[in-house]
Amino acid sequence: MRIEKEVFGKTPGGKEVYLFKLINANGVRADITNYGGIVVRLLVPDRDGKLGDVVLGYDTLAEYIKDSPYFGAIVGRYGNRIAKGRFTLDGVEYKLATNNNENHLHGGKKGFDKVVWDAEPLKTADAVGVKLTYLSTAGEEGYPGNLKCTVRYSLTNDNELKIRYEAETDKATPVNLTHHGYFNLGGFAPGTRPDIVYHHIMINADRFTPVDETLIPTGELKDVDGTAFDLRRPGGVLIADYIDDTDREQIRFAGGYDHNFVLNGSGEGLTLAARVDEFHTGRIMEVWTTEPGVQFYSGNFLDGSNVGKGGKAYERRYGFCLETQHFPDSPNKPGFPSVILRPGERYNQTTIYRFSAR
Ligand code: BGC
Repeated sequence: MRIEKEVFGKTPGGKEVYLFKLINANGVRADITNYGGIVVRLLVPDRDGKLGDVVLGYDTLAEYIKDSPYFGAIVGRYGNRIAKGRFTLDGVEYKLATNNNENHLHGGKKGFDKVVWDAEPLKTADAVGVKLTYLSTAGEEGYPGNLKCTVRYSLTNDNELKIRYEAETDKATPVNLTHHGYFNLGGFAPGTRPDIVYHHIMINADRFTPVDETLIPTGELKDVDGTAFDLRRPGGVLIADYIDDTDREQIRFAGGYDHNFVLNGSGEGLTLAARVDEFHTGRIMEVWTTEPGVQFYSGNFLDGSNVGKGGKAYERRYGFCLETQHFPDSPNKPGFPSVILRPGERYNQTTIYRFSAR
């Protein structure tokens, strides 16, 4: 196991940014920068032991700064949408930055994906990692309270990318942190389809949160039975068989999947949220989390305008995200699990992306 640290670039403000290369005992590698906490590369084996990069992103810092749809980043203070950027907390109405038509998305105009985090390498008996810290000051993007955040990424010898999030505040605030990796388990290798609809997916959820046309939940927790959201079959379903079912209003609103699933059995430590496999390479990714929900986003809004690593233009559905989270718009949905963190409390989340092959 080892950690290599190199300079990744400089922000326009002149801040030096680093790239931490985490390499485990099996040669699996995660390259993570302290700009936005972005996982730039994730090299995992296929069934023949051949390493491939299974995440979308850029080769350079400048490209991340210029224009990125949250490739591989830590998202906060609130991952996902808050309707019209408004919520009321302890009798006070707060107005957040709006950056997704009239809604607030992923922390606003300059969320946690666009800030430079303090970073230090981490090493334990069976993992290498990086500890990132960031102080989000009161009023940033409209949020109340100074929020102190710590995110620990670690790469274990069991080929897991483990993310542990913690936060503390001095005034009540909503908090919903997540990781916005875009995965393609084929790694764009010769012979694989670049489009992720040829992956199989299982999501461990009996219910999901339907949305309106602006992708804000209606508040209902809807049974997946008989819908395109029933992805419970243990071996997974081929995404292509479900995603273009245009008769279904929910899929139409999002141009594919862009929905929060209500995970079964959450609240009891780590729960298996999802399992994805790509048959050509044999790669499998499992997602385990302490969170009650996961957003499955099928990369519908990618349109070829982001030209990523190795000059590859990322077209529609070239990557998928599984963002473990509390439900979208929770500050305005009293029926959803609370996202409010108060002084003296500690926000805690653990999510694991586990890789194997068959
Ligand atoms: C959202 C999408 C959004 C994307 C940003 C996802 O988490 O659910 O609606 O377009 O992030 O690229």
